[in-house]
Amino acid sequence: MIVCKFGGSSVADASQIFKVREILMSDSRRRLIVVSAPGKRNNSDEKITDILYRCHDEVAEGNKAGSFKIIRARYTEICNTLGIDSISTILDEVESGIEEGRGPDYAASRGEYLAAKMLSGFFGAEFIDAAEVIRLTSDGRIEESSYTGLKDRIKGDGLYILPGFYGSDPDGNIKTFSRGGSDITGAIAARAVNAEVYENWTDVSGLLMADPRIVRNPVAVPELTYKEIRELASIGANVFHEEAVTPVKDHNIPINIRNTNDPDAPGTFIVADRDYKKKAVVGVSGKTSYTNIFIEKLMLNRYPGFRERFLELLGKAGIVPEFESRGFDSISFLVSDKQINSPDTLLREIADQLKPDLLEIRESFAVIGIVGSGVIDKTGIAAAAFSALSKENINIRFISFGGSELTLLLGIDAAFYRDALTAIYKSVGNV
Ligand code: ASP
Repeated sequence: MIVCKFGGSSVADASQIFKVREILMSDSRRRLIVVSAPGKRNNSDEKITDILYRCHDEVAEGNKAGSFKIIRARYTEICNTLGIDSISTILDEVESGIEEGRGPDYAASRGEYLAAKMLSGFFGAEFIDAAEVIRLTSDGRIEESSYTGLKDRIKGDGLYILPGFYGSDPDGNIKTFSRGGSDITGAIAARAVNAEVYENWTDVSGLLMADPRIVRNPVAVPELTYKEIRELASIGANVFHEEAVTPVKDHNIPINIRNTNDPDAPGTFIVADRDYKKKAVVGVSGKTSYTNIFIEKLMLNRYPGFRERFLELLGKAGIVPEFESRGFDSISFLVSDKQINSPDTLLREIADQLKPDLLEIRESFAVIGIVGSGVIDKTGIAAAAFSALSKENINIRFISFGGSELTLLLGIDAAFYRDALTAIYKSVGNV
Protein backbone atom coordinates (compact mmCIF):
# COMPACT_ATOMS: atom_id res chain seq x y z
CA MET A 1 0.00 0.00 0.00
CA ILE A 2 1.10 3.57 -0.66
CA VAL A 3 0.17 6.35 1.76
CA CYS A 4 -0.34 9.70 0.02
CA LYS A 5 -0.40 12.97 1.85
CA PHE A 6 -1.68 15.95 -0.11
CA GLY A 7 -0.65 19.37 1.18
CA GLY A 8 -2.67 22.59 1.25
CA SER A 9 -1.76 23.64 -2.30
CA SER A 10 -2.93 20.26 -3.67
CA VAL A 11 -6.43 20.75 -2.24
CA ALA A 12 -6.61 24.56 -2.54
CA ASP A 13 -9.40 24.48 -5.11
CA ALA A 14 -11.41 22.15 -7.34
CA SER A 15 -8.94 22.20 -10.23
CA GLN A 16 -6.17 20.98 -7.89
CA ILE A 17 -8.47 18.32 -6.45
CA PHE A 18 -9.16 16.96 -9.95
CA LYS A 19 -5.39 16.48 -10.31
CA VAL A 20 -5.32 14.65 -6.99
CA ARG A 21 -8.03 12.28 -8.18
CA GLU A 22 -6.03 11.53 -11.33
CA ILE A 23 -3.00 10.72 -9.19
CA LEU A 24 -5.03 8.40 -6.97
CA MET A 25 -6.59 6.64 -9.95
CA SER A 26 -3.28 6.11 -11.69
CA ASP A 27 -2.00 3.62 -9.08
CA SER A 28 -4.27 1.23 -7.18
CA ARG A 29 -1.74 0.93 -4.37
CA ARG A 30 -2.56 4.52 -3.34
CA ARG A 31 -5.18 3.58 -0.80
CA LEU A 32 -4.67 5.66 2.31
CA ILE A 33 -4.96 9.41 1.76
CA VAL A 34 -4.06 12.12 4.26
CA VAL A 35 -5.17 15.67 3.50
CA SER A 36 -4.24 19.13 4.70
CA ALA A 37 -6.67 22.03 4.85
CA PRO A 38 -7.00 24.03 1.62
CA GLY A 39 -4.03 26.38 1.29
CA LYS A 40 -3.45 29.56 -0.69
CA ARG A 41 -4.67 29.72 -4.29
CA ASN A 42 -2.45 32.71 -5.01
CA ASN A 43 -0.09 35.01 -3.15
CA SER A 44 -2.78 37.29 -1.78
CA ASP A 45 -4.98 34.40 -0.62
CA GLU A 46 -5.29 33.11 2.95
CA LYS A 47 -4.86 29.58 4.23
CA ILE A 48 -7.99 28.02 5.71
CA THR A 49 -6.02 27.19 8.88
CA ASP A 50 -5.08 30.85 9.38
CA ILE A 51 -8.72 31.91 9.02
CA LEU A 52 -9.78 29.23 11.51
CA TYR A 53 -7.31 30.52 14.10
CA ARG A 54 -8.80 33.96 13.49
CA CYS A 55 -12.32 32.59 14.06
CA HIS A 56 -11.13 31.25 17.41
CA ASP A 57 -9.60 34.66 18.30
CA GLU A 58 -12.84 36.44 17.39
CA VAL A 59 -14.77 34.21 19.78
CA ALA A 60 -12.11 34.53 22.49
CA GLU A 61 -12.56 38.32 22.28
CA GLY A 62 -16.27 37.89 22.92
CA ASN A 63 -17.49 38.28 19.32
CA LYS A 64 -19.12 35.98 16.80
CA ALA A 65 -16.79 33.99 14.54
CA GLY A 66 -17.39 36.47 11.71
CA SER A 67 -14.60 35.09 9.53
CA PHE A 68 -16.31 31.70 9.36
CA LYS A 69 -18.31 32.96 6.39
CA ILE A 70 -15.08 32.94 4.34
CA ILE A 71 -14.53 29.29 5.30
CA ARG A 72 -18.10 28.39 4.42
CA ALA A 73 -17.87 30.13 1.05
CA ARG A 74 -14.58 28.41 0.22
CA TYR A 75 -15.75 24.83 0.92
CA THR A 76 -19.10 25.46 -0.71
CA GLU A 77 -17.43 26.73 -3.86
CA ILE A 78 -15.17 23.68 -3.99
CA CYS A 79 -18.14 21.32 -3.57
CA ASN A 80 -20.10 23.12 -6.29
CA THR A 81 -17.24 23.00 -8.77
CA LEU A 82 -16.54 19.35 -8.01
CA GLY A 83 -20.24 18.65 -8.48
CA ILE A 84 -20.69 17.00 -5.07
CA ASP A 85 -23.23 17.59 -2.30
CA SER A 86 -22.52 20.59 -0.14
CA ILE A 87 -21.29 19.96 3.39
CA SER A 88 -23.45 22.68 4.96
CA THR A 89 -24.60 20.60 7.95
CA ILE A 90 -21.01 19.79 8.87
CA LEU A 91 -20.04 23.44 8.39
CA ASP A 92 -22.88 24.40 10.79
CA GLU A 93 -21.60 21.95 13.40
CA VAL A 94 -18.06 23.28 13.11
CA GLU A 95 -19.21 26.89 13.36
CA SER A 96 -21.18 26.08 16.53
CA GLY A 97 -18.19 24.23 17.99
CA ILE A 98 -15.96 27.25 17.45
CA GLU A 99 -18.59 29.62 18.86
CA GLU A 100 -19.00 27.42 21.93
CA GLY A 101 -15.33 28.19 22.60
CA ARG A 102 -13.86 24.73 22.09
CA GLY A 103 -10.43 26.28 21.77
CA PRO A 104 -7.72 27.01 19.19
CA ASP A 105 -6.77 23.38 18.52
CA TYR A 106 -10.35 22.40 17.83
CA ALA A 107 -10.84 25.42 15.53
CA ALA A 108 -7.58 24.91 13.60
CA SER A 109 -8.09 21.18 13.17
CA ARG A 110 -11.41 21.70 11.40
CA GLY A 111 -9.71 22.73 8.15
CA GLU A 112 -8.38 19.20 7.67
CA TYR A 113 -11.54 17.63 9.10
CA LEU A 114 -13.79 19.48 6.62
CA ALA A 115 -11.43 18.75 3.73
CA ALA A 116 -11.41 15.01 4.45
CA LYS A 117 -15.18 14.93 4.97
CA MET A 118 -15.73 16.80 1.71
CA LEU A 119 -13.34 14.67 -0.33
CA SER A 120 -14.34 11.28 1.02
CA GLY A 121 -17.41 11.35 -1.23
CA PHE A 122 -15.53 12.68 -4.24
CA PHE A 123 -12.79 10.05 -4.04
CA GLY A 124 -15.12 7.28 -2.90
CA ALA A 125 -13.00 6.87 0.24
CA GLU A 126 -14.02 5.94 3.74
CA PHE A 127 -13.52 8.77 6.24
CA ILE A 128 -11.51 8.00 9.38
CA ASP A 129 -11.48 10.71 12.04
CA ALA A 130 -7.92 11.35 13.23
CA ALA A 131 -9.30 12.17 16.70
CA GLU A 132 -10.39 8.53 17.02
CA VAL A 133 -7.15 6.91 15.97
CA ILE A 134 -4.24 9.28 16.56
CA ARG A 135 -3.67 9.35 20.30
CA LEU A 136 -1.20 11.75 21.83
CA THR A 137 0.37 11.66 25.28
CA SER A 138 -0.02 14.70 27.53
CA ASP A 139 3.37 15.97 26.33
CA GLY A 140 2.42 15.58 22.66
CA ARG A 141 4.15 12.30 21.77
CA ILE A 142 2.41 9.68 19.66
CA GLU A 143 0.97 6.73 21.59
CA GLU A 144 1.95 3.34 20.15
CA SER A 145 -1.74 2.40 20.09
CA SER A 146 -2.25 4.99 17.31
CA TYR A 147 -0.48 2.70 14.86
CA THR A 148 -2.46 -0.42 15.67
CA GLY A 149 -5.69 1.58 16.00
CA LEU A 150 -5.32 3.01 12.53
CA LYS A 151 -4.24 -0.28 11.01
CA ASP A 152 -7.34 -1.98 12.41
CA ARG A 153 -9.53 0.53 10.60
CA ILE A 154 -8.09 -0.39 7.19
CA LYS A 155 -10.02 -3.55 6.52
CA GLY A 156 -11.18 -3.95 2.95
CA ASP A 157 -9.39 -3.10 -0.26
CA GLY A 158 -11.00 0.31 -0.80
CA LEU A 159 -9.73 3.84 -0.30
CA TYR A 160 -9.47 5.56 3.07
CA ILE A 161 -9.10 9.24 3.89
CA LEU A 162 -7.70 10.67 7.09
CA PRO A 163 -7.51 14.37 8.01
CA GLY A 164 -3.98 15.52 8.84
CA PHE A 165 -2.64 17.83 11.56
CA TYR A 166 -4.43 16.55 14.68
CA GLY A 167 -5.20 13.74 17.05
CA SER A 168 -6.62 13.63 20.55
CA ASP A 169 -5.02 13.98 23.99
CA PRO A 170 -5.54 11.55 26.91
CA ASP A 171 -8.72 13.46 27.91
CA GLY A 172 -10.16 13.03 24.43
CA ASN A 173 -9.68 16.68 23.45
CA ILE A 174 -8.54 17.58 19.96
CA LYS A 175 -4.84 18.38 19.86
CA THR A 176 -3.09 19.76 16.79
CA PHE A 177 0.54 19.27 15.84
CA SER A 178 2.71 22.31 15.12
CA ARG A 179 2.12 24.13 11.83
CA GLY A 180 2.66 21.99 8.75
CA GLY A 181 1.88 18.96 10.90
CA SER A 182 -0.15 17.03 8.33
CA ASP A 183 3.23 15.66 7.25
CA ILE A 184 3.40 13.98 10.67
CA THR A 185 -0.04 12.42 10.22
CA GLY A 186 1.09 11.07 6.85
CA ALA A 187 4.14 9.51 8.48
CA ILE A 188 2.05 7.95 11.24
CA ALA A 189 -0.31 6.51 8.64
CA ALA A 190 2.61 5.15 6.59
CA ARG A 191 4.05 3.40 9.60
CA ALA A 192 0.67 2.08 10.74
CA VAL A 193 0.09 0.21 7.48
CA ASN A 194 3.79 -0.43 6.86
CA ALA A 195 3.46 1.37 3.54
CA GLU A 196 5.86 0.56 0.72
CA VAL A 197 6.30 4.30 0.29
CA TYR A 198 5.01 7.46 1.92
CA GLU A 199 4.23 9.91 -0.88
CA ASN A 200 4.14 13.54 0.19
CA TRP A 201 2.47 15.54 -2.57
CA THR A 202 3.17 19.25 -2.67
CA ASP A 203 3.74 21.99 -5.26
CA VAL A 204 7.44 21.50 -5.93
CA SER A 205 9.04 18.62 -7.80
CA GLY A 206 10.97 17.42 -4.78
CA LEU A 207 13.22 18.94 -2.22
CA LEU A 208 14.99 21.90 -3.73
CA MET A 209 18.68 22.16 -2.94
CA ALA A 210 18.36 25.81 -1.90
CA ASP A 211 15.64 28.30 -1.02
CA PRO A 212 14.07 29.37 -4.36
CA ARG A 213 13.19 32.77 -2.86
CA ILE A 214 16.90 33.47 -2.70
CA VAL A 215 18.60 31.28 -5.30
CA ARG A 216 17.25 31.30 -8.83
CA ASN A 217 16.02 27.89 -10.10
CA PRO A 218 17.71 25.54 -7.66
CA VAL A 219 17.46 21.88 -8.67
CA ALA A 220 15.65 19.18 -6.69
CA VAL A 221 17.85 16.59 -5.05
CA PRO A 222 16.93 13.07 -6.25
CA GLU A 223 17.72 11.27 -3.02
CA LEU A 224 18.80 12.03 0.53
CA THR A 225 18.80 10.24 3.87
CA TYR A 226 16.61 10.70 6.94
CA LYS A 227 19.65 12.13 8.74
CA GLU A 228 20.39 14.58 5.96
CA ILE A 229 16.86 15.94 5.91
CA ARG A 230 16.93 16.41 9.69
CA GLU A 231 20.17 18.28 9.31
CA LEU A 232 18.79 20.50 6.56
CA ALA A 233 15.73 21.27 8.68
CA SER A 234 17.91 22.20 11.64
CA ILE A 235 19.67 24.78 9.52
CA GLY A 236 16.55 26.41 8.19
CA ALA A 237 15.16 24.45 5.23
CA ASN A 238 11.45 23.84 5.59
CA VAL A 239 9.68 21.73 3.04
CA PHE A 240 8.93 18.70 5.07
CA HIS A 241 8.01 18.83 8.76
CA GLU A 242 11.08 17.84 10.74
CA GLU A 243 9.13 15.67 13.19
CA ALA A 244 7.61 13.67 10.35
CA VAL A 245 10.76 11.61 9.81
CA THR A 246 10.61 9.83 13.17
CA PRO A 247 7.64 7.47 12.62
CA VAL A 248 8.93 6.12 9.30
CA LYS A 249 12.67 6.10 9.91
CA ASP A 250 12.95 2.99 12.07
CA HIS A 251 10.70 1.11 9.69
CA ASN A 252 12.71 2.04 6.62
CA ILE A 253 9.70 3.43 4.79
CA PRO A 254 10.94 5.72 2.02
CA ILE A 255 9.39 9.18 1.77
CA ASN A 256 8.83 10.46 -1.75
CA ILE A 257 8.24 14.20 -2.09
CA ARG A 258 6.31 14.88 -5.29
CA ASN A 259 4.54 17.60 -7.21
CA THR A 260 0.76 17.44 -7.77
CA ASN A 261 1.23 19.85 -10.69
CA ASP A 262 3.88 17.64 -12.31
CA PRO A 263 3.01 14.08 -11.32
CA ASP A 264 5.43 12.49 -13.78
CA ALA A 265 8.47 14.05 -12.11
CA PRO A 266 10.12 11.47 -9.83
CA GLY A 267 10.56 13.99 -7.01
CA THR A 268 12.85 13.38 -4.07
CA PHE A 269 13.29 10.14 -2.14
CA ILE A 270 14.19 10.24 1.53
CA VAL A 271 15.73 6.92 2.48
CA ALA A 272 17.82 5.27 5.20
CA ASP A 273 21.00 4.99 3.21
CA ARG A 274 22.41 6.17 -0.10
CA ASP A 275 25.62 6.12 -2.07
CA TYR A 276 26.99 9.55 -1.30
CA LYS A 277 29.90 9.09 -3.68
CA LYS A 278 27.48 9.87 -6.50
CA LYS A 279 26.23 13.04 -4.86
CA ALA A 280 28.11 14.52 -1.93
CA VAL A 281 25.97 17.59 -1.24
CA VAL A 282 22.18 17.42 -0.85
CA GLY A 283 21.39 21.00 0.04
CA VAL A 284 22.56 24.42 1.07
CA SER A 285 20.53 26.24 3.62
CA GLY A 286 20.91 28.80 6.33
CA LYS A 287 19.51 31.19 8.88
CA THR A 288 20.12 34.80 9.72
CA SER A 289 19.54 36.33 13.16
CA TYR A 290 22.45 34.94 15.12
CA THR A 291 24.60 36.60 17.74
CA ASN A 292 28.14 35.48 18.46
CA ILE A 293 29.29 35.27 22.05
CA PHE A 294 33.06 35.06 22.19
CA ILE A 295 35.20 34.47 25.24
CA GLU A 296 38.98 34.29 25.52
CA LYS A 297 41.25 33.42 28.44
CA LEU A 298 44.90 32.60 28.33
CA MET A 299 45.63 28.97 29.31
CA LEU A 300 41.94 28.15 29.14
CA ASN A 301 42.59 24.42 29.40
CA ARG A 302 44.07 24.99 32.86
CA TYR A 303 40.66 26.00 34.19
CA PRO A 304 38.65 22.78 34.52
CA GLY A 305 34.92 23.25 34.04
CA PHE A 306 35.32 26.68 32.43
CA ARG A 307 33.16 25.84 29.43
CA GLU A 308 30.49 24.28 31.65
CA ARG A 309 30.36 27.36 33.87
CA PHE A 310 30.15 29.58 30.82
CA LEU A 311 27.23 27.48 29.51
CA GLU A 312 25.60 27.53 32.92
CA LEU A 313 25.70 31.33 33.05
CA LEU A 314 24.25 31.53 29.55
CA GLY A 315 21.60 28.97 30.50
CA LYS A 316 20.58 31.09 33.49
CA ALA A 317 19.93 33.95 31.06
CA GLY A 318 17.78 31.64 28.92
CA ILE A 319 20.45 31.17 26.25
CA VAL A 320 21.08 27.79 24.66
CA PRO A 321 23.82 28.07 22.02
CA GLU A 322 23.15 26.45 18.64
CA PHE A 323 26.70 26.29 17.30
CA GLU A 324 30.06 26.14 18.98
CA SER A 325 33.64 26.40 17.88
CA ARG A 326 36.68 26.31 20.10
CA GLY A 327 40.16 27.64 20.00
CA PHE A 328 43.03 26.77 22.30
CA ASP A 329 42.27 29.72 24.53
CA SER A 330 38.80 30.69 23.35
CA ILE A 331 35.24 29.52 22.95
CA SER A 332 32.79 30.94 20.45
CA PHE A 333 29.06 30.30 20.52
CA LEU A 334 26.41 31.30 18.03
CA VAL A 335 23.03 31.85 19.62
CA SER A 336 19.70 32.90 18.26
CA ASP A 337 19.16 36.69 18.53
CA LYS A 338 15.80 36.06 20.17
CA GLN A 339 17.51 34.63 23.24
CA ILE A 340 19.57 37.73 23.98
CA ASN A 341 17.51 40.00 26.20
CA SER A 342 19.79 42.15 28.32
CA PRO A 343 23.29 41.82 26.87
CA ASP A 344 24.91 44.27 29.31
CA THR A 345 23.79 42.40 32.40
CA LEU A 346 24.88 39.14 30.79
CA LEU A 347 28.34 40.46 29.96
CA ARG A 348 28.77 41.84 33.47
CA GLU A 349 27.75 38.58 35.08
CA ILE A 350 30.09 36.48 32.92
CA ALA A 351 32.97 38.93 33.39
CA ASP A 352 32.49 38.83 37.19
CA GLN A 353 32.33 35.08 37.40
CA LEU A 354 34.85 33.92 34.79
CA LYS A 355 37.31 36.83 34.60
CA PRO A 356 38.02 36.38 30.89
CA ASP A 357 40.71 38.28 28.97
CA LEU A 358 38.19 39.13 26.30
CA LEU A 359 34.43 38.82 26.18
CA GLU A 360 32.39 40.11 23.28
CA ILE A 361 28.89 39.95 21.92
CA ARG A 362 28.88 40.40 18.15
CA GLU A 363 25.57 40.82 16.41
CA SER A 364 24.19 40.17 12.89
CA PHE A 365 25.56 36.79 12.03
CA ALA A 366 24.14 34.40 9.48
CA VAL A 367 25.00 30.72 9.29
CA ILE A 368 25.00 28.74 6.08
CA GLY A 369 25.19 24.96 6.15
CA ILE A 370 26.39 22.82 3.26
CA VAL A 371 24.71 19.50 3.99
CA GLY A 372 25.49 16.04 2.66
CA SER A 373 27.03 12.75 3.77
CA GLY A 374 29.93 13.39 1.40
CA VAL A 375 30.75 16.88 2.62
CA ILE A 376 33.54 15.70 4.87
CA ASP A 377 34.86 12.83 2.77
CA LYS A 378 35.02 14.54 -0.56
CA THR A 379 37.99 16.80 -1.22
CA GLY A 380 37.40 20.27 -2.52
CA ILE A 381 33.97 21.15 -1.17
CA ALA A 382 35.20 23.54 1.49
CA ALA A 383 37.73 24.99 -0.94
CA ALA A 384 35.03 25.61 -3.56
CA ALA A 385 32.76 27.33 -1.03
CA PHE A 386 35.59 29.46 0.38
CA SER A 387 36.72 30.57 -3.03
CA ALA A 388 33.13 31.39 -4.09
CA LEU A 389 32.77 33.59 -1.03
CA SER A 390 36.12 35.21 -1.52
CA LYS A 391 35.19 36.11 -5.13
CA GLU A 392 32.15 37.90 -3.69
CA ASN A 393 34.37 39.61 -1.12
CA ILE A 394 32.52 37.94 1.71
CA ASN A 395 34.54 37.23 4.79
CA ILE A 396 34.01 33.99 6.72
CA ARG A 397 33.78 34.66 10.45
CA PHE A 398 33.01 31.20 11.75
CA ILE A 399 33.69 27.69 10.46
CA SER A 400 32.65 24.35 11.86
CA PHE A 401 31.97 20.83 10.64
CA GLY A 402 29.07 20.64 13.09
CA GLY A 403 28.71 17.64 15.33
CA SER A 404 26.96 15.44 12.83
CA GLU A 405 29.77 15.18 10.27
CA LEU A 406 27.20 15.90 7.60
CA THR A 407 27.44 19.65 7.48
CA LEU A 408 29.99 22.34 6.87
CA LEU A 409 28.80 25.44 8.71
CA LEU A 410 29.99 28.87 7.67
CA GLY A 411 29.19 31.99 9.68
CA ILE A 412 29.15 35.30 7.84
CA ASP A 413 27.90 38.83 8.28
CA ALA A 414 24.08 38.66 7.94
CA ALA A 415 24.08 41.52 5.42
CA PHE A 416 25.72 39.21 2.85
CA TYR A 417 23.42 36.25 3.48
CA ARG A 418 21.61 36.18 0.13
CA ASP A 419 24.75 36.70 -1.96
CA ALA A 420 26.63 34.12 0.06
CA LEU A 421 23.90 31.49 -0.23
CA THR A 422 23.72 31.97 -3.99
CA ALA A 423 27.50 31.84 -4.41
CA ILE A 424 27.84 28.71 -2.29
CA TYR A 425 24.98 26.94 -4.04
CA LYS A 426 26.53 27.68 -7.42
CA SER A 427 29.91 26.41 -6.30
CA VAL A 428 28.91 23.14 -4.58
CA GLY A 429 25.29 22.43 -5.63
CA ASN A 430 26.25 19.95 -8.31
CA VAL A 431 29.02 18.18 -6.39
N1 ASP B 1 -3.12 23.09 7.90
C1 ASP B 1 -2.03 23.06 8.84
C2 ASP B 1 -1.15 24.27 8.62
O1 ASP B 1 -1.46 25.14 7.84
C3 ASP B 1 -1.28 21.78 8.77
C4 ASP B 1 -0.70 21.41 7.42
O2 ASP B 1 -1.06 21.99 6.40
O3 ASP B 1 0.14 20.52 7.39
O4 ASP B 1 -0.15 24.40 9.26
